[in-house]
Amino acid sequence: LQRDQNPKDSVDVSLLGGLLVPGFNKDMCLSRYQSHLYRKASPYKPSSYLISKLRAYEELHKRCGPGTKPYSNAERLLKPKQTGDPEPEGCKYVVWMEFSGLGNRIISIASAFLYAMLTDRVLLVEGGEQFSDLFCEPFLDTTWLLPKDFTLANQFTGFAQHSPRCHGEMLKRKLINGSSVLSLSYLYLHLAHDYNDHDKMFFCEEDQSLLKNVPWLIMRTNNFFAPSLFLIPSFEEELGLMFPEKGTVFHHLGRYLFHPSNHVWGLITRYYNAYLAKADERIGLQIRVFDEKSGVSPHVTKQILSCVQNEELLPKLSKPGEEQHKQPSEDEEEGSKLKAVLITSLTTGYYEILKTMYWENPTVTRDVIGIHQPSHEGHQQTEKLMHNRKAWAEMYLLSLTDKLVISAWSTFGYVAQGLGGLRAWILYKQENQTSLMNPPCGRAMSPDPCFHAPPYYDCKAKKGIDTGSVVPHVRHCEDISWGLKLV
Ligand code: GDP
Repeated sequence: LQRDQNPKDSVDVSLLGGLLVPGFNKDMCLSRYQSHLYRKASPYKPSSYLISKLRAYEELHKRCGPGTKPYSNAERLLKPKQTGDPEPEGCKYVVWMEFSGLGNRIISIASAFLYAMLTDRVLLVEGGEQFSDLFCEPFLDTTWLLPKDFTLANQFTGFAQHSPRCHGEMLKRKLINGSSVLSLSYLYLHLAHDYNDHDKMFFCEEDQSLLKNVPWLIMRTNNFFAPSLFLIPSFEEELGLMFPEKGTVFHHLGRYLFHPSNHVWGLITRYYNAYLAKADERIGLQIRVFDEKSGVSPHVTKQILSCVQNEELLPKLSKPGEEQHKQPSEDEEEGSKLKAVLITSLTTGYYEILKTMYWENPTVTRDVIGIHQPSHEGHQQTEKLMHNRKAWAEMYLLSLTDKLVISAWSTFGYVAQGLGGLRAWILYKQENQTSLMNPPCGRAMSPDPCFHAPPYYDCKAKKGIDTGSVVPHVRHCEDISWGLKLV
């Protein structure tokens, strides 16, 4: 806290401009109160409408969350011998099922939360101990964790695209209509990357009005599906009020929901203070190699170097011999900056190359470049706790950098970009290993993630359309031509 700062301003800063509420136990979740010490204030302000929606949601969650009477009433509807119809005034829920890698989880939970806010449902997440080990509770005096003894929990593994209670499957069999839906206590929504045209009807107005009547929606998703919610007429106006700056949905909701637990906050702050704090500039470089066996590819190395050097994120190296002609004057020495590069990758190949390059050679700007990589886990190990803690810490550390380079297609990178409110440089995916990408990278249009598997359907006209050209703020992604993103 700076001395000339008004205490009210500092409260405002630590609560992210009204996004967060005070009142949580500070020791239980240090990151909630300390994150503003590590990251710059966001260039994007949450709208007052979004803030009021969040406050209303918090009330709803407190009233209907696990352990409350409305929760028990709603859960009773799921018991096999339940009698009577769902209460018209009862609470309604959307349950997010555990699925996929951590980046996918984070962006899909944010989408499910947005959907919950739009439909006055309570979001509950399945995740067990792992989840509470990684994240703090986002809502005051209640929990977002689905209780372990949830009535349908032992059926979750059986929920799939063709299970009888799957929304898409029931549509296919013509079992869903205005009256049949009234007797359903729950439906399974298959919204994962491999979903089919029937499942995609979720994004149609007509289906949304049917789903309104179902108290429990159990959702399996690994996508950031928010862009397609902007194309549903009944949500459009409200979304416009919540997010006047469209491409900041994940930025705000991500900062609102995902606070690293104290374990993870320790990983983040120790690393930051040891390797990044003293630098004049921090550069994040996320290298996601999807084919883990391939090792270092000369083309990818070239791509990374031409991206960071052409975009002037890192300086070029002096040519051999050049550096000996002239010793830097004191002024020049003083003007040189320390740039800390944070690399995240499952392997060490690219880190070794960059580190050696900037150690063995001076730079043309005389800037000094420190290259750091916290871990090299080899491959994805989502079942392991420490592995996930590191993955989460690294996404968060990347989000604290001043300039960020991320890999195409990777939700890990999207999370870093979104939380940071950054428009990253995206390293385009190499089509094949034999030619160099040109250009090697490009700037993201907005900090929001890409929806990798959007529907291409005009629900009204009942025919296929390009959903990336319906409204100006929902466009195709920089890194995936068929994806959709908010800009
Ligand atoms: P995506 O597959 O890139 O979209 O990202 P996900 O986060 O959904 O899944 C990839 C998973 O692999 C991560 O959650 C980590 O478990 C692991 N992983 C991938 N890249 C890294 C990395 O740079 N650092 C660490 N620590 N883990 C990584």
